[in-house]
Amino acid sequence: MISPGKTIGVLGGGQLGRMFSHAATRLGYRVHIYEPSAKCPAGEVSARETNADYADAEALAAFARACDVVTYEFENIPVEPLWPVEKTVRLHPHWSVLETAQNRLREKNWLRKHDFPHVPFAEVEAKGDLAAAVRKIGLPCVVKTADFGYDGKGQVKVSDDASLARAVSEFSGQRAVVEKFIDFKCECSVIVARSASGEVRSFPVAENIHSKHILDFSIVPARIAPALQTAARELAEAIAARLDLVGLLAVELFVTDDGKLLVNEMAPRPHNSGHWTMDACATSQFEQHVRAVCGLPLGDTSLTAPAAVMVNILGDAWKWSGDKLVGDPDWAAVLATPGAHLHLYGKAEPRRARKMGHFTLTGAEASATLEAARRLKARL
Ligand code: ADP
Ligand code: MG
Repeated sequence: MISPGKTIGVLGGGQLGRMFSHAATRLGYRVHIYEPSAKCPAGEVSARETNADYADAEALAAFARACDVVTYEFENIPVEPLWPVEKTVRLHPHWSVLETAQNRLREKNWLRKHDFPHVPFAEVEAKGDLAAAVRKIGLPCVVKTADFGYDGKGQVKVSDDASLARAVSEFSGQRAVVEKFIDFKCECSVIVARSASGEVRSFPVAENIHSKHILDFSIVPARIAPALQTAARELAEAIAARLDLVGLLAVELFVTDDGKLLVNEMAPRPHNSGHWTMDACATSQFEQHVRAVCGLPLGDTSLTAPAAVMVNILGDAWKWSGDKLVGDPDWAAVLATPGAHLHLYGKAEPRRARKMGHFTLTGAEASATLEAARRLKARL
């Protein structure tokens, strides 16, 4: 057990690291952030910060020596420089989990190999035949880069010859995945924690609504049948166990019309769709992450409100005149609403499509709370 008072190192300095740091600090830990760019959201609220490249072996070695355990909040970290880190200090989750999850091809092949339900896909090598992979999967389909995609970046939907031509030119020279387009009933996610002792706990299922590929709303409880909720949680727990995970894992799922669950992707870190846990759950995902990597008992994951909706606040919520920033969102509207909880990430510069903060609204029932959250978002 890494007891309170010790130092937790976090690779990555974004908002997930910031909220992790709040939770760890509250439990008496010191947090040391490792992040390439200065003035990051997490460094600002942590005891120590190192600004160096992820491939800087010397800086990483010094960071490892200064920490009692290391975790990460960001997926696009090169894995090789982490090998020596693991010789100095425990790294949770293990680098091999990161390696699997950070690349769509490895991730999908892992799901297939271990018989977890996933979206039908075909691989395309860097110099491979994209059109042939598209023919194999059939139209409509989605072409995604194998490496380093997020928030819908590096994705093209292919539904006809024109969009196929666009995809062929956009992905030329890149490794890619061609996926069947799933006409899903809804999207859901389950966040699950597993500790070194093998204790596993999942959070209630969240239903997620995306807009332009970026998460817009997370709704709890998910409006799917209770049996499907149980199946989704069991699926995430089984994946965590199979990965031999120590830490936190988010599993994104498609729910099909005929009531099947398909894993879309996995992230071995806190997740945007779990932010509601800070205001509507006995333990937040961030505290659970601290508990899991430090070997503390995992916390209770029951809801503390009948329903909750998390709303992302992007830079778009600021007042713009063309490209010029002319005013802040109306924070008072959120702050004055009973049951609403505002979280801002301290990012200096709002930009369109940039995640600046979120709010969670609790309520008596999911659909009504979603409608109230939509109205509140419009007032921002
Ligand atoms: P990211 O890494 O950008 O989150 P995802 O693979 O999760 O990438 O894709 C983002 C969103 O795009 C998904 O949440 C979903 O709404 C949509 N999407 C992705 N793949 C598919 C698919 N095969 N069928 C239908 N919608 C998809
Ligand atoms: Mg996703």
